[in-house]
Amino acid sequence: MNTKTMENDIYKDFKDLSVDELINGYVNNPKTGEFSCIFCGETFENGIIYPNAEKLFTAEKAVSEHVKEEHGGSFNVLINLDKQICGLSEIQKSILTHLYERDDNKTICEAMNISAATVRTHKFNLQKAKREAKILLALIQTAEEDPLLSNTKPREKTSSNEEEQKSMFEVNSLHPFFTQYRFK
Ligand SMILES: [Zn+2]
Repeated sequence: MNTKTMENDIYKDFKDLSVDELINGYVNNPKTGEFSCIFCGETFENGIIYPNAEKLFTAEKAVSEHVKEEHGGSFNVLINLDKQICGLSEIQKSILTHLYERDDNKTICEAMNISAATVRTHKFNLQKAKREAKILLALIQTAEEDPLLSNTKPREKTSSNEEEQKSMFEVNSLHPFFTQYRFK
């Protein structure tokens, strides 16, 4: 009984999203062929043609346009996430936004009222954080690799009431976005 509920659980784990999926703002379900917005869950069916401003879009083009039109693009959503979720300070967010806007150092200095040396330091620190984040990702991914996946033995189902309740608490309640994902 509970097994069925678990299988039909609409909530997925945020940690399973790839960096590319976060950049694109959508995921493709290989089973159904559907494309879904990762921010609000809106889904576009493969094989259906979606009209958009007198143009006809495939499902993938339609979900991509949806992310731009409804959410202002993936960058916009991610940069506005709470520090609790993204871990970025306001200064880091400002620097990243200027980089995204392709602003030169002079423009960044003037806009943020900081010296050229400080801008360089912030940029250097962001590159350092990127390097560290990549190493951390590689380490965690390796450490979490499930030995059962390479085995023919089926994984043990954990579908007690307790597990289910625990899952409900893990559902993201911190932000209006990523509503269908669990933050663990
Ligand atoms: Zn959406």
